[in-house]
Amino acid sequence: MFSSKAFDGHEGVTFFSDAASGLRGIIAIHSTTLGPAAGGCRAWTYDSDEAALQDVLRLSRGMSYKNAVAGLPMGGGKAVIIREPGKPVTAAQFEAFGRVVNQLAGRYVTAEDVGVSVADMACVARNTRYVSGLAQDGAAAGGDPSPKTAYGVFCGIRAAVQARLAIRELRGLRVAVQGLGSVGRHLCERLHEAGAELVVADINTAACEDARVKFQARVVAPEEILFQDVDVLSPCALGGILNAQSIPRIRAPIIAGGANNQLATPEDGQALHDRHILYAPDYVINAGGIICAASEYLKSATEDQVWQRVARIEQTLTGIFLESTATDTPTNLIADALAHERMHAGRMTAASH
Ligand code: NAD
Repeated sequence: MFSSKAFDGHEGVTFFSDAASGLRGIIAIHSTTLGPAAGGCRAWTYDSDEAALQDVLRLSRGMSYKNAVAGLPMGGGKAVIIREPGKPVTAAQFEAFGRVVNQLAGRYVTAEDVGVSVADMACVARNTRYVSGLAQDGAAAGGDPSPKTAYGVFCGIRAAVQARLAIRELRGLRVAVQGLGSVGRHLCERLHEAGAELVVADINTAACEDARVKFQARVVAPEEILFQDVDVLSPCALGGILNAQSIPRIRAPIIAGGANNQLATPEDGQALHDRHILYAPDYVINAGGIICAASEYLKSATEDQVWQRVARIEQTLTGIFLESTATDTPTNLIADALAHERMHAGRMTAASH
């Protein structure tokens, strides 16, 4: 465990179960150097407990990097609830999860991720105050983080097309969106409004039909979406999709999407760089949701200010793309270096107090 790549010096991992509700899951706290470990809770059916552990560790570590690069005073953590096949997670299970979060006394702050809604977070909030992503209250920041995540991805696509294709206009841009869930759907809406042409895929056929009607999107089979002849590939489903098998077949010159952990390994970032495919590092481009959730939790911004903060993802990515070109270094490594720098500065500040 301690020497595994995914563990990467995690401060703590909590395995929990609740006999009364049947809840089982894991909370991983990667780092609290910059503040309480913030990251969403994913409800998912895993093939094995080991797969759940690997997922939560990779996601949690990613949150430390994401929060550091977004300039948030938060560390990185994540939770997974292991969902029984074919069964929903019950309100009693989310309440029990809230009790576990509460026992961590603020070292971990939860929110939504895949398979978890604002209504589910309201159940969690019955037993803990270390929670965000609750229904919006007046002009304060809050609510479902996914529209903000999608807006950040939209801004990131603008930065990428400017850097790689030297265009600012999204009208006529061909974008392939993988996954039409909370993030993918909101992203399609913005891209459609901006005049982009969409190709989409989801394992949920109703979501595809909806996108076909609303956004005049062309629907392709899930196994074909990564390999479309488009300007931008936007992965908005699950992770690990950029790997040794898929990368040689990708035709888009830009990859810019909301999914977490898109690269199967860091070396896949080099493979994309070698193929001259511009990759927007996932945890930089998809930080909109956590910017919103953190602002809500810290009560540090109004809703309007949150949208402005999310828009800054465009500048952050532009800086990463410029440095990547100037130093001939893959974008994922530039982003990692920026995150390390901020976490190191945080450790130095903590040590001097
Ligand atoms: P979601 O569960 O609402 O949507 C995921 C969608 O992907 C679903 O419609 C699902 O059917 C589809 N899907 C699953 N496997 C697929 C496949 N093989 N091919 C095509 N489609 C497939 O989740 P979401 O909240 O939209 O999150 C999407 C991704 O973005 C995840 O990786 C998540 O971790 C990441 N993310 C989400 C947020 C947020 O604010 N929700 C923030 C940051 C990152």
